[in-house]
Amino acid sequence: YLRFLNTVGNIGAVALENAQLYERVEDLAIRDSLTGLYLRRHLLERMSVEIGRHLRSESELSFLMIDLDHFKKYNDRFGHTAGDIVLKMIATILSQMFIAPGEIVCRYGGEEFCILLPDCSKKRAGQLAEEVRKRIEAKTIILRREKTHITVSCGVAAFPVDVHTKEELVQKADVALYEAKASGRNQVVFAKEDK
Ligand code: GH3
Ligand code: MG
Ligand code: MG
Repeated sequence: YLRFLNTVGNIGAVALENAQLYERVEDLAIRDSLTGLYLRRHLLERMSVEIGRHLRSESELSFLMIDLDHFKKYNDRFGHTAGDIVLKMIATILSQMFIAPGEIVCRYGGEEFCILLPDCSKKRAGQLAEEVRKRIEAKTIILRREKTHITVSCGVAAFPVDVHTKEELVQKADVALYEAKASGRNQVVFAKEDK
């Protein structure tokens, strides 16, 4: 009988291990291996859910699109490994700042990051983006005993004030980001609201 109990226990342990492994594999599929941040696909899924929820609520759903400034030059000057360290550093700053339930920090592409901010007004999102910009600007990254710095540009858009769909939310934030780049980088620009 004791042996039987032991066997049942072992089966239970294996089942638990499988469950944990499954969770880890799922996690690997939705997270970026360099930074540990969510990948684009997961962000877009969460965005659909949040847009659905915000259709039935008074609050705004805000979205930040962040891109490193002159990152190609940074890589050219300090090397790709140094560039990777910078990307991880940015990911850490963002993960520490956005921890509220429902907030999603995502590595959207190579050196592009996105933040989904449920129940957050566009104005508040702009303040948070400015906080991100300042924190990154203030950070000293030491490479081969040399002090280096990096800056970011950011576009801010919000549902439903700016857009009606998730595609538009991404697109409008991207247009605002482009404007931030065009007007000198290291700044936050709001999407223009439709009249
Ligand atoms: P801009 O201010 O206009 O954004 O200029 P930029 O140089 O940042 O933009 P561009 O799109 O020309 O270059 C992006 C660079 O980001 C080029 C690419 O090598 C680098 N990059 C993308 N992904 C990674 C990565 O995973 N690691 C490293 N080290 N660099 C990356
Ligand atoms: Mg860039
Ligand atoms: Mg880019």
